[in-house]
Amino acid sequence: MTPAAPLVGSLAPDAELVLGEVRVLDPRGGVDAPRDVRVRAGTITELAEPGTLAPEHVEELIPGGGRLALLPGFVDPHVHLRTPGQEHKESLETGTRAAAAGGYACVIAMPNTDPVLDAAPLLRSLRAAAAREARIPVGFLAAVTRGLGGEQLTEMAELRREGALGFTDDGRPVASAGMVRKALEYQRLCGGVLALHEEDPTLSRGGAMHEGAVSAALGIAGIPTIAESTMLARDAAIAGYEDGRVHFQHLSCAASVDAVADAKARGWRVSAEVSPHHLLLTEEDVRDMDTRMKMHPPLATDADRRALLDGLRGGTIDCVATDHAPHAREEKEVPFEQAPMGTTGLETAFAALHAGLVVTGELALETLVERMSAGAELFGLPTPRIAVGELANAALVDLDADWVAGEHGWESRSENCCFAGRRLRGRVVLTLAGGALVHRDGALAMVGA
Ligand SMILES: [Zn+2]
Ligand SMILES: [Zn+2]
Repeated sequence: MTPAAPLVGSLAPDAELVLGEVRVLDPRGGVDAPRDVRVRAGTITELAEPGTLAPEHVEELIPGGGRLALLPGFVDPHVHLRTPGQEHKESLETGTRAAAAGGYACVIAMPNTDPVLDAAPLLRSLRAAAAREARIPVGFLAAVTRGLGGEQLTEMAELRREGALGFTDDGRPVASAGMVRKALEYQRLCGGVLALHEEDPTLSRGGAMHEGAVSAALGIAGIPTIAESTMLARDAAIAGYEDGRVHFQHLSCAASVDAVADAKARGWRVSAEVSPHHLLLTEEDVRDMDTRMKMHPPLATDADRRALLDGLRGGTIDCVATDHAPHAREEKEVPFEQAPMGTTGLETAFAALHAGLVVTGELALETLVERMSAGAELFGLPTPRIAVGELANAALVDLDADWVAGEHGWESRSENCCFAGRRLRGRVVLTLAGGALVHRDGALAMVGA
């Protein structure tokens, strides 16, 4: 039996599009050069010297004037689309519209929905809904344990056959070491990545922010970084013992980076992601008790932040993931300790990291671009490339454009973005995903029909 195709989305191939005089930047292909780019019926058909291509039919020419960069479309292996059950926060349509606006060509949705995505019939109907409603291709992770209860494994093989890219109980840890081991034993039979939210609940309990100087000053119960790093080290060792494939979600501290580096040095099959907020913000940003700064794992110290950046730069951390976690306004407009954890991130990820790390000289643009889509391969998906014959998965970005996050509202149904009000640099003006034109900035000039 052939497994279901892992990605779904409502993709009507566009006719013809010519991007004139753009900077094609594809770090994996070693390409950084001005080019004219032709996309026909969803495929990149020509990369030519600038100023040489014109549309052959009616369609349209988007002039870059040398100012716009064409990057491989981003891939986010960690988003919460809140569907089914919490559509007041986000839907398949609004979540993927936010992703398209951020330059994403593909996202992978988490299963902590209501009901939990823990059974094949539910995955089947959710994929059918995504095929109708999603603006870009969406992949799904299914739950490791039924109802995220931590006690009974889901029917992993059946979920894999139905198209699950892997398994996670994200939102919660898999607290039992025995359960992690059992999931990896089943993984040997059915494949699929085991993605882990690392948190020892006996260490994190009751905490609302990072345990340190700021939590002490504010009198808020803290979560120590060892809640993450000890659990991560435990699960890395289990992965090594079982020769299992695990992916560590949203790393937040230096000790976790060390544990991943150690696991990789031993040849264990592990990978890791980091979020824009953990790369750019610290516990100091929580001082005002703005609930948009409350997320799981919490923002830690600047030393942790710098270790995460070093990890991303050097490749210990494989990719950027937003952990886009929408919450309704009324849910976040409560006292800090009562607010739910999470920040949105799809619409700001590239611009925030570009402004905060690339413009400042701390991270090479090529490295950022590579890490923004590296999540694809980790979950067995094709990595977007700007090359002839490739399906068009690309983000056209004005790298010099300054904008204030949220100034024109959001595509997401929620607005709990930790970067709201900040000046960012680098605006996604057009996104191609799965061969379709899925986002175009209103300000983008066009020539043609
Ligand atoms: Zn999580
Ligand atoms: Zn998450």
